[in-house]
Amino acid sequence: MTNRHTLACVCTIAILSIPALAQSQLDPIRVLVQRLELEKYKSTIKGLTQFGDRRQGTARNRAAIDWIEAQLKSYGCTNTERLTYQFGAEPPHRVLSASAIHAAQGEEPEIGAGGTRLRGIVKPTGVNFDPLAQPDARIRALDAEPAVAGARQEVWCTKIGAIHPGEMYIVSAHMDGIGFGEAANDNGSGTALVMELARIFASPDVRTDRSIRFILWNNEETGLNGAHAYVEQRAKLQGKEDPAGSGRYPEPKWLGMIQHDMMLFDHGMPRADGSLSPNQRPEADVNIEFQADSKAAGASHDLAFAFQAANEAYATDYPANIGSHMTNTDSHEFQDMVASISLRENERGAQIGAGWDPQWHQPTDLYATYGDKDFRLGLNAAQTTLSAVARLAGATLRK
Ligand SMILES: [Zn+2]
Repeated sequence: MTNRHTLACVCTIAILSIPALAQSQLDPIRVLVQRLELEKYKSTIKGLTQFGDRRQGTARNRAAIDWIEAQLKSYGCTNTERLTYQFGAEPPHRVLSASAIHAAQGEEPEIGAGGTRLRGIVKPTGVNFDPLAQPDARIRALDAEPAVAGARQEVWCTKIGAIHPGEMYIVSAHMDGIGFGEAANDNGSGTALVMELARIFASPDVRTDRSIRFILWNNEETGLNGAHAYVEQRAKLQGKEDPAGSGRYPEPKWLGMIQHDMMLFDHGMPRADGSLSPNQRPEADVNIEFQADSKAAGASHDLAFAFQAANEAYATDYPANIGSHMTNTDSHEFQDMVASISLRENERGAQIGAGWDPQWHQPTDLYATYGDKDFRLGLNAAQTTLSAVARLAGATLRK
């Protein structure tokens, strides 16, 4: 009896495990997701922090762009390009806010950036503009050079679609930072995510029906100026074959814009005394936001739900939740033209804006500040975008 029961159990396990194994071999998206590794993601973030806070208009910012481009080429995403634009003096830090609109309508000033409600314990936030606030002498020296007005650049590479090369998804993050730290979370974490996805999609055995462009914006922290320059220079080129008959599309038609900005830190709401939990909260989530008050809100809403579905199917640890108040990141420049979403560690208006991330724009935004559970939240965002974009762009694997 006992022996027979044991045998029956072994048989059942064998029958169940064969289809499970076969499915993982057949589903190309699962294979691609498995190519994301925590240690690789961490080492790319670490690599970015060698350039300090990568502030726009400095040599450390330009060196970081050179490094990013060299990395993209080394991954096989060799068709890198740069956009050049001019930028003047740094303005006072600009936060897009809905409060003026709501104040004019006679409402209480509880409305945060993006039109969100601020609830619960709200801790003040701000930007550190004092270079001497960095206690680490090495990092203080690295971040010492001030920004100078002049030419700016930003870099991208493109996975060209095999069937529809003239249509693309934009997968992006801003590579500049502020605050006199290492800008590890804001936004080494998003930059590394985009670079890791470029690496995986550039693999010679990966084919996509549609194109995917991996863009690392500059000048986000000064008011989304890098994304603005891209839209200004390139929106009009969309979908045009150039030269005619060549099959080449310098600016494929935009199908969706997916921004990544601050991926690591979801330790919850500040406590009553203003302190934060030292640990990633077990119920941490990837926040996917679109802007309900934008011209492309319907398409953006649908894109957000496609991302949540991909998270359900492929992300290993953390769920994704959708919000309708996307704000204060580069996708804002696209939201009236094309489906646009941003992925973050927290909702930008209601949570980061209410003090949920004490490192935000501070000297403490250092690689060493974060633990593996933080980095793993960023990895789950990478799994979410990789799987969603693989589905949308029609990714398959060559045998
Ligand atoms: Zn940012």
